[in-house]
Amino acid sequence: SRETVRSVAVIGGGISGLAAAWRLVELRPEWQVVVLEASDEPGGVIQTVQRDDFTLELGPDSLLRRLPWGVDLCRRLGIEQELIGTEPAAKGVYTVHRGRATRMPEGFAIMAPERTWPVVTTPILSPWGKLRLAAERLVPRRTASTDESLAAFACRRLGREAFERIVQPLAGGIFMGDPERLSLKSCFPQFAAMEAEHGSLIKATQAARKQREAKADGKPQSVFTAPAGGLGRIIEAAAEKLGERVRCGQRVVQLASRDDAWQLRVEDIQTGEQADETYDAVIVATPASATARLLESVDPRVSELLAGVEYSSCVIVQLGYQRKNIAHPLDAAGVVVPNVEGRALQACSFSSVKYAGRAPDGSVVLRAFFGGAMRPELPAMSDEKLIELAKSEVGTLLGASGEPLFTVVKRWQSSMPQYHVGHAERVDEIEQRTAAHHGLELAGAALHGVGIPHCIHTAEDAARRVVEQLER
Ligand code: FAD
Repeated sequence: SRETVRSVAVIGGGISGLAAAWRLVELRPEWQVVVLEASDEPGGVIQTVQRDDFTLELGPDSLLRRLPWGVDLCRRLGIEQELIGTEPAAKGVYTVHRGRATRMPEGFAIMAPERTWPVVTTPILSPWGKLRLAAERLVPRRTASTDESLAAFACRRLGREAFERIVQPLAGGIFMGDPERLSLKSCFPQFAAMEAEHGSLIKATQAARKQREAKADGKPQSVFTAPAGGLGRIIEAAAEKLGERVRCGQRVVQLASRDDAWQLRVEDIQTGEQADETYDAVIVATPASATARLLESVDPRVSELLAGVEYSSCVIVQLGYQRKNIAHPLDAAGVVVPNVEGRALQACSFSSVKYAGRAPDGSVVLRAFFGGAMRPELPAMSDEKLIELAKSEVGTLLGASGEPLFTVVKRWQSSMPQYHVGHAERVDEIEQRTAAHHGLELAGAALHGVGIPHCIHTAEDAARRVVEQLER
């Protein structure tokens, strides 16, 4: 019944775990909720640090506004007023064409060309590539409903050239994956839906644009947003609201169900001591490999399915420069690099151009990305080599000269889940089986979307289901 006080453990204190815990507290303030986080700070891959007068995002830096759950959580944490949009100067992105930074045709939302003219005039596609792209309207709708890879879909609809020159570099940075293996249905369900409903991405995009223009009121909002102080502010605000419920330095090493309750073996990472704790329910919000280990004896099949979700690694090299030492106008969000260009660099974002207040006047911060599924050898290189590589890439592409003011190397080992073809079926089976375990719920980036808003949504759903289950 509603009156009974229940206890719930959330394992993992990344955004998923914190969002699940905060939703539980909102729904049932009287319940006992704890977040057990292995490392000595909450936040997982969200890490904002201060370096001199620079604000650096070591991991993610943006929330997609189109998905409501990120902004909604900020509102409920009382920090909505801190959200800022990207600067008007950070409009569009550059790509690399034959070794040089060249503007990506404007209004190309990964696979959906919103405007015709920029595509007609762009130097990055050959006349044949442009014709093939324009013929997208005539490509018949696919009849099979089975999953398809990102590359297969993009080549089939837009042609190989548009795939290699536009879709791959734009999508590549999001999943850091292999487009021949990434699932269209799980990574970009919106494009699958466009084809299903309109028979064409171009037709669907133009219909959506007309609709948007018809109801356009006030000034257009930026696609991305973040707290002025960085995404770390969301973690700080959530940790503050949750207070002593968040216990850092506590690694869960074992999970077992015992007579209608869940028993957790918790290890203190400082002392190495272990203790057992019992809860009515548990939400596991750790990366898939950790969740798989915890569920080994609870449900071997779920464990096996989770262990089968591959992760890619990347490394981000941050470079501070004096503005005057960079020849490029930096009038965009950054530069992406098509795989066909054969460069080490995957992308470089102009961080302090995107968000105001991240660098002192007269200086800039660039974030150079290396690695991902296509270049797994790069994150294994030494810091010195990576810094040299980053300096040489921004030297060639952006005309950066002289010594950087500082450099920071951050490796993200096995940090980005890869939703390969068939991912949706895998997740279906995981969730159907998990539902049979009373008081067990899963959350985290491995399931329904790697983006922070998706992670929040998945976590809040798990919290809601825990309440339903415990009160059934
Ligand atoms: P994590 O952040 O990985 O948190 C899991 C937590 O569980 C960790 O803190 C870990 O220490 C803890 N843990 C693990 N095992 C145990 C255990 N046994 N016991 C206790 N605790 C444990 N998304 C966006 O929306 N926008 C972006 O700009 C963006 N950029 C990104 C850039 C990079 C480099 C990366 C890696 C991801 C990016 N993403 C971005 C994706 C997004 O940031 C992540 O998908 C999301 O933050 C994952 O959150 P999580 O809580 O599910 O997992």
